[in-house]
Amino acid sequence: MKIAIASGKGGTGKTTFATLFAHAIRPSTYVDADVEEPNGHIFLKPEIEEEKDFSELVPKIIDEKCTFCGICADECPYKALVILKPTKKWLFFPELCHSCGICAYVCPVKGALVEVPKKKGVIRKGKAGNIKFMEGILNLGEPTPVPLISSLLREIDEKDQNVIIDAPPGTSCPVVETLGFADFVLLVSEPTPFGIYDLSLAVELTRDLKKPFAIIENKYNPDNHLLEDYAKKENIDILYRLPFEEEIAKSYSKGELPFERFEESLRQLYEEIKRRVK
Ligand code: SF4
Ligand code: SF4
Repeated sequence: MKIAIASGKGGTGKTTFATLFAHAIRPSTYVDADVEEPNGHIFLKPEIEEEKDFSELVPKIIDEKCTFCGICADECPYKALVILKPTKKWLFFPELCHSCGICAYVCPVKGALVEVPKKKGVIRKGKAGNIKFMEGILNLGEPTPVPLISSLLREIDEKDQNVIIDAPPGTSCPVVETLGFADFVLLVSEPTPFGIYDLSLAVELTRDLKKPFAIIENKYNPDNHLLEDYAKKENIDILYRLPFEEEIAKSYSKGELPFERFEESLRQLYEEIKRRVK
């Protein structure tokens, strides 16, 4: 079973919960798909055993063969190529290139535009005790994390047990890509008006994707019923609550988490999700 831990925005406690959960249900597999800012390693402290480059093809124009007709630049949907016809020069903006391959497809001159690999990030694998650890790290300035996320998630093996996917924040393409791989989604939110607004966007997306899901309340305060009221209105279960406590905040700031304290209750949560997925 693959469970994605998502949230409508960053900073809601998504990684805190995902790492606590992966630790509680070990042997497990923790996959950090928040490739623009992966930080699960801070808490799980894995030993990295394998690192491989993630590359995609980008265009390279061969001056001797190019006729500077400009078709490749005209057809590039991201304006990553500019052909200066009068001076017979070309410019390429790698930070705009999505490696879609259209320029190579439309070029009418054989050998004028070739595709060369460009390193866009890395995929790392390792172990934190009996937690299998996987993460993607996107290079700064890359236009989209989606191909790296998809490549990382395809590395999840059939044999990998109890898979927890730490999704990117937000509700855009990287999250859609990640939730597509999940059997169940847990949406982490805080009981604040802003938190609930962002959660409502994530709920809409998860419903559109037709994934079974529930809410995890972070910074739970028994006197605050905002999130509970929202969940009731939307007919969504809140399956777990992480309390709002100084102890958790202090250990978080040191890169540590009180793993043992939540183990038993998180194992029960896992059993509950298994029942719902069957
Ligand atoms: S389409 Fe081909 S020949 Fe035309 S400008 Fe681009 S690389 Fe050169
Ligand atoms: S690969 Fe796609 S995005 Fe990149 S330059 Fe070619 S057409 Fe543009």
